[in-house]
Amino acid sequence: MRVAVASFEFEGNTLSNQIHGRGDFARKVLAEGAAMLRAVEGRDLAVAGGMEVLAAAGLEVVPLVAAQGGSGGRVDDGFYREIRDQIISGAAAAMPLAGVYLALHGAMITESENDPEGEILAAVRQVVGPAIPITASFDLHAHVTPRMVAAADALVGYETYPHIDAHNTGRRAAEILVGAIRGRIRPVMRLRRIDALLPVAGGATDDPDAPMAKLRRSARRAEQEGRVISASYFPVQPWLDIPDLGIAGLAVADGDAEAAAQVADEIVREMWDRRREFEIPNFAPQEAARRALAHASPRVLISDAPDCVGGGAPGDAPAVLAALLEQATATPSAVLVVDAAAAAAAHQAGVGAALTTTIGASLDPRFHPAVAVDAVVESLHDGSFVYSGGVSAGTPGRMGPTAVLRVGELRIVVPTHATYEYGDEQYRAAGIDIRALRIAVLKNPMNFRTLLDHDTAWVMVAGPGPTTPSLDSIEWKVKRRPFWPCDDLPQPTYLGD
Ligand SMILES: [Zn+2]
Repeated sequence: MRVAVASFEFEGNTLSNQIHGRGDFARKVLAEGAAMLRAVEGRDLAVAGGMEVLAAAGLEVVPLVAAQGGSGGRVDDGFYREIRDQIISGAAAAMPLAGVYLALHGAMITESENDPEGEILAAVRQVVGPAIPITASFDLHAHVTPRMVAAADALVGYETYPHIDAHNTGRRAAEILVGAIRGRIRPVMRLRRIDALLPVAGGATDDPDAPMAKLRRSARRAEQEGRVISASYFPVQPWLDIPDLGIAGLAVADGDAEAAAQVADEIVREMWDRRREFEIPNFAPQEAARRALAHASPRVLISDAPDCVGGGAPGDAPAVLAALLEQATATPSAVLVVDAAAAAAAHQAGVGAALTTTIGASLDPRFHPAVAVDAVVESLHDGSFVYSGGVSAGTPGRMGPTAVLRVGELRIVVPTHATYEYGDEQYRAAGIDIRALRIAVLKNPMNFRTLLDHDTAWVMVAGPGPTTPSLDSIEWKVKRRPFWPCDDLPQPTYLGD
């Protein structure tokens, strides 16, 4: 009995001006057919977890394609169709199949498609017919659509944020698939969505008092009580200006559609009821730098939330660099700003050379002007590293040629390419131990939490950018109004599913 397996993972952002294609995926994970096994096996990825469960159940895995591109704006239509068609034609060629498992993100967008995962799931359903079970694992920030739910038997989201359970989520999706293939369970799924968005930074599951940790406990309770097989919460990737974006609850039950609908509704209602608990204080860059310098803690992490690569921003915003150049050149500190031209100039100049250059705003100049610096080239690197955890655990990260520039005590890491930040991999690849510094800037509103200890405090930055923490500051053009938090709604408005 054969099960077709593929992964196609990318998180989109309509506020980004970037288009991503083969090169962006190839720098992360891109492998077809049998090569896919070597690319993902043994790693902490959702697709690897799923394949382990299928193999252990005695099912033959048919590897189609693994493509993981991280985050950004939209995926190039041509590249998207290539991978989509590999999945569809691969499944067709592998028939007869006992089942299909797909590791997806759930919030990918392409140049012309706002629901590519829904399109892929519907096309695979067309290929295998109504009787063959299809399950998929999703990121917790998935934008789950009715088309996805109609096409699949079960969808399962990550439990954690920072995301540390991709592998286990793949296992859970595959376990449901195995149960359905063996006829032990008859999965039925229901989705409930509310027209509301929540600040990403307030969604931590590693703080037991945070609202998302409470949601997690509620979902697990619904499973432990046997009401449903799987309960997922989707606070959604909020930087998608598309009409029907909204927070969602989703549950899979064994034959009991009513139970699934009830649990899905309880989950999304709890998210709505706790919506004000998701707010996290954030400060303009100069004020954030001032607070970091004045903080009693020996170390302070500044979270540059508006330029989060993991949320789709290009990582080239120099707003915090500008603030540190004004305030912190006498303080052991480090900041990272993507700039291919500045990295190349530093590599040309060589270690020890004086370099006058501009940094930042080279990919997206809309939010902050480039910053001029007179620096010394402290060190040069090839920018390669391996992720120590998170959704990319064990896979390579490739910043490309990277330079460390120094202005007084401030180190400026200048990579060629933006990379998803999980912990301090980028700094370590540039030879910098941020634990030895007073201030370090991370371009992520959540994953910096993996670096916190009792000597480390944090400050979050506010302001414009593709991943601004202020959702009500965004000029929404397409999203249907009214919705929370841009409109003050006393009651939840359900999106029709
Ligand atoms: Zn996510």
